[in-house]
Amino acid sequence: MIWYPWLDQDYRRLVALLMKKKRCLSILLYSNLGVGSELLVRALVRWIMCEKRRDIATCNQCENCKMVSSDIHPDFYKIDVLKKENSIKVEDIRKIGEIVQNYTIYNSKRVVWIKEIRLLTKEARYCLIKILEDFSEKNTYFFLECHQILPYLSSLNSKCLHFSLKEPSDETVMKWINENHSFPEINVRIATRSHSGSPLKALNLLKKKNWDSRESFYFKFTKNIIHGNDLVGFLRELRKEDVFEKISLLMILLLDSIKYRKNAVFNCINQDKLDLIRYINKVVSTRTLLSMVESLEKFVRNLNVVSFTNLDLQIIIQTCNLRSCFI
Ligand SMILES: [Zn+2]
Repeated sequence: MIWYPWLDQDYRRLVALLMKKKRCLSILLYSNLGVGSELLVRALVRWIMCEKRRDIATCNQCENCKMVSSDIHPDFYKIDVLKKENSIKVEDIRKIGEIVQNYTIYNSKRVVWIKEIRLLTKEARYCLIKILEDFSEKNTYFFLECHQILPYLSSLNSKCLHFSLKEPSDETVMKWINENHSFPEINVRIATRSHSGSPLKALNLLKKKNWDSRESFYFKFTKNIIHGNDLVGFLRELRKEDVFEKISLLMILLLDSIKYRKNAVFNCINQDKLDLIRYINKVVSTRTLLSMVESLEKFVRNLNVVSFTNLDLQIIIQTCNLRSCFI
């Protein structure tokens, strides 16, 4: 069974909490994306359901353990949102309400798991609060996951116990990747520091397809933005589905150039792109670099709220701004 060592401590702490509380709990889990929270929730659900658990350990052999691991336990309900849907609607939450109200419990306990509560619509949020009030003490545990602290979730926060997952250090992540895979050490260091605190994202970047895509992106940035060969071609790069990843690569590169200027070359993340960093540092002022980073940060914040029409316009503005730094 797959497990990540950095989840051990949080698993122990959460099981201790579940042991201590006599009644069921609604737990709001905050974590970085790519820290492996899914494995942790499944392990906790197995612990809740297991017929032969001992202290914090589950047997992993009983019917309940097997059904939770195979995702077919009749008392384990999940709401997972496909990327393209992008919201959890009130109908989805009402369905959960109907299930907990009307369905017989197979094993005396029931668990509801909602990933990405950020995606709850306002109506869905209020509906969920009502369900938490009505059912949290009736043999039903709720695990709600969130990857950002959002002020509009405060009404939901008050109904739950909060728990923030510990993020592993870069050293822990590099050790884990090097022990389990055979990527070049410099690449492991770059990927880990690019996605500090999100080990699964770091591992994803190291996959050949993604690493090649990173190489290609920096090559096209040099050719089309720095040397101004094909701005439209670069626009197409940013319009691809992984726009978050591409913007993150740009920000890392610009921040590395600022660090280079401050004689902090060893703190640069892209140790394999020092020639490019040196060139940017030579032709662009620190003030311009900082203002570009700020603008990209703002762009990322808006990515979740702008319509697609605006998104295209934003991408054009960002691309022109980038090009103007090198003219
Ligand atoms: Zn078991």
